[in-house]
Amino acid sequence: MKFETAAIRLQTERSQHREHSTPIFPTSSFVFDDAEQMRSLFADEQEGNIYSRFTNPNCSELEQKMAALEGVDDALSTSSGMAAIFASMMGLLRSGDHLLATKAIFGATFTVITQWLPRWGITCDFLDTDTANWQEHVRPNTKMLFIETPSNPGLDIIDLEAAGQFAKRNHLIFNVDNCFATPYLQQPARFGADLITHSSTKFLDGQGRVLGGIVAGRADLLVDIKKFCRSTGPSLSPFNAWLLSKSLETLAVRLDRHCDNALALAKYLSAHDEVQMVRYPFLDTHPAAAIARKQMKNGGGLVTFEVKGGLEQGRRFLDALQMLSLSANLGDTRSIATHPASTTHAKMTADDRKAAGISDGLIRISAGLEHIDDIIEDIDNALKISRV
Ligand SMILES: *Cc1c(COP(=O)(O)O)cnc(C)c1O
Repeated sequence: MKFETAAIRLQTERSQHREHSTPIFPTSSFVFDDAEQMRSLFADEQEGNIYSRFTNPNCSELEQKMAALEGVDDALSTSSGMAAIFASMMGLLRSGDHLLATKAIFGATFTVITQWLPRWGITCDFLDTDTANWQEHVRPNTKMLFIETPSNPGLDIIDLEAAGQFAKRNHLIFNVDNCFATPYLQQPARFGADLITHSSTKFLDGQGRVLGGIVAGRADLLVDIKKFCRSTGPSLSPFNAWLLSKSLETLAVRLDRHCDNALALAKYLSAHDEVQMVRYPFLDTHPAAAIARKQMKNGGGLVTFEVKGGLEQGRRFLDALQMLSLSANLGDTRSIATHPASTTHAKMTADDRKAAGISDGLIRISAGLEHIDDIIEDIDNALKISRV
């Protein structure tokens, strides 16, 4: 099946009611035919649902789809993107292990790596976006490489092919946060990724309704990640899994429109007098535009820019927006503007933010699915009002 078809047609088996669309299974547990079936299910001798902290038909449908869309063996859904990322590390790393991660990563991921993992004896070093000097950071106990591309919010692009070769050469588990691209625009497994993590809260839901996460990847690695989650319980609710699986049915058409709107917005901002820097992966002025074109089908739904007047003008710009929402989310039908330095990345030090490419005046726009003329009109008006 092609991507668009798999996103629609991979579906939980129909019940006796012959429903067309998968129903919701809001049940905490499942019944056994007899004591022998109960014993063998618990002993992992046969597959089947036992308890919704382990598996649920709605979660399984979502997982099966995401594994197919990412082109990997298996997947596990979780209650949030951070639960997925944390489980992908805690399920596989142990005290004494060393992790390598790129500097430009999501704020909460940075917090997990720098503040929580060290408590369990897992240490980390940070890498530049450019893969050239990565080898110097490898230690005998390095176990995992974690990267995010395009990065949130700086839209840094990491060369997946070079990163995949580096991971292979050093026998590292290659873990990619694919949240900004989604499998529709980028399939990290094609470049050797062993694990792909997602915040399904973003484009996978695409309508700003639920929190969710996914770890997809090699079946042998998912065994321990699943065991970790079974015991610790970051399970996705059946209702949220159902919503997310429904959302995947429209992922391709939604992403096409997000990308069209984001590119048009990036071009408009590039030509604007009040704007000094615009970043969009498929804009020729992006320092890694050629790499983005090599590994992505399109540039994604996010654009970042800086107004000439820095932080002060940036704040006035945000206050002058009428239609765009000021909100912490992204990948919604509604266009959203945020100021990363004072919100999602405020817990980083100013130096760490600088290393991650987040200047104080940086504004991130998640281009929604409204008509592009209305998005640009609102931004144009806010730029006029915020001018010094
Ligand atoms: C939002 C986000 C996360 C965290 O996901 P939650 O669903 O909010 O827990 C992780 N990585 C990236 C790139 C994100 O944008």
